[in-house]
Amino acid sequence: MPFSALKLHPNLLKAVKELGYARPTPIQADAIPPALAGRDILACAMTGSGKTAAFLLPILHRLMDKPRGTTRALVLTPTRELAAQILEDLNELAPHTPITGAAVFGGVGMGPQEHAFRSGVDVLIATPGRLLDHFKAAYAKLDGLEYLVLDEADRMLDMGFLPDIRRVLRHIPARRQTLFFSATLPAPILALTREMLREPVMINIERQSTPAVGITQAVYPVAQELKSALLLALLRRGDMKEVLVFTRTKHRTNRLAEYLVKHGISAERIHGNRSQAQRTAALAGFKSGKHRVLVATDIAARGIDVTALGHVVNFDVPLAPEDYIHRIGRTGRAELTGDAYTFVSPQEEGELKSIERVLGKRLPRVTVPDFDYHARPEARLEVPLAERIAAIRAKKAEERNRAKARTERRATPAPAPKPGPRRPGNRGRPR
Ligand code: AMP
Repeated sequence: MPFSALKLHPNLLKAVKELGYARPTPIQADAIPPALAGRDILACAMTGSGKTAAFLLPILHRLMDKPRGTTRALVLTPTRELAAQILEDLNELAPHTPITGAAVFGGVGMGPQEHAFRSGVDVLIATPGRLLDHFKAAYAKLDGLEYLVLDEADRMLDMGFLPDIRRVLRHIPARRQTLFFSATLPAPILALTREMLREPVMINIERQSTPAVGITQAVYPVAQELKSALLLALLRRGDMKEVLVFTRTKHRTNRLAEYLVKHGISAERIHGNRSQAQRTAALAGFKSGKHRVLVATDIAARGIDVTALGHVVNFDVPLAPEDYIHRIGRTGRAELTGDAYTFVSPQEEGELKSIERVLGKRLPRVTVPDFDYHARPEARLEVPLAERIAAIRAKKAEERNRAKARTERRATPAPAPKPGPRRPGNRGRPR
């Protein structure tokens, strides 16, 4: 089906053509017509499916002929990165329209966001927490809202945002069109859809958890302590250009990025303890090709869209099968192909099995020919917590002992000088 069959405004079709989209992705072909007809939508779609354009195009189409100066569309999304990405997509799809958008998320100043509310920007893209902060002020009114999008709803559930979403709903008109996107539909999300949607058109509900086509998946069995060396070996072999690497903890993210830099690979990292400015700089450096590797924890990396990203490496096996599918959705975007490698230590085999059960297939195991699987690791990536605590305790005890010894030394009067050694037979004899 060509894009022209979707009956979108010619200025939107022009932008789509300029972006080089040859034809609508399945989610776009399914969602755009009912969305244009004003229907509520419940769609199972993950990152990489083209879902962002699936909700932005019909909204842009319907806003184009409306009077300006009122915020008519709100997109709720779980993370800052995703909000920034959606705004970028909006700007790419709307250059031949008068429509404006703004992103509202935490970690940056409220001032410019307040301006967006006051000027009645057409489309607001917001994370729930920061939006609620604005709602405390009189300027933040969304009485003229006509379109609401919930993006990555299941991720919002994971991040504990469902109460915030219900709070946001109290601030916006009940009469509106709602487009609801979620990769999976766990029970609390289904309950929310019942509260929010009116006779929705259901899209892809039965095909919840399948990764995007065009992704080559492989498993690399390796001892936990040799994972860094294996990643380095794969990078040095040169068959991975730029790579997004996921690790399980912030600590491992830091240590792995340090390890790669130490071995001459330009790498950056993003995780929850890094400031917004640091995350933005890391992502921009990765996108521009300055950094070859971006190491990230799962939550911080949600919504990262790196067009034509060739490789994702799961340095640790994701705990939930859904996370695996979400992550590898980051390669193989729409029409492209990519590779997703998962490093599996013997201790992680169980989690891998759960993933394979959901995928419905066994993933191929790969051994790297000249890699020494029996090498002694250079250094451990992560010292176990118990060991770290024991080391801190030992150090503190040593400091305490030293301090105690110092005070004792000060408190005790200096001993009288010892008489010189007396030699027997020498007593009293004049020298
Ligand atoms: P998302 O919206 O997060 O699922 O990401 C979709 C990715 O595919 C983005 O990089 C888009 O630029 C790209 N994309 C969206 N629609 C199409 C299309 N019809 N053809 C090719 N690429 C697309």
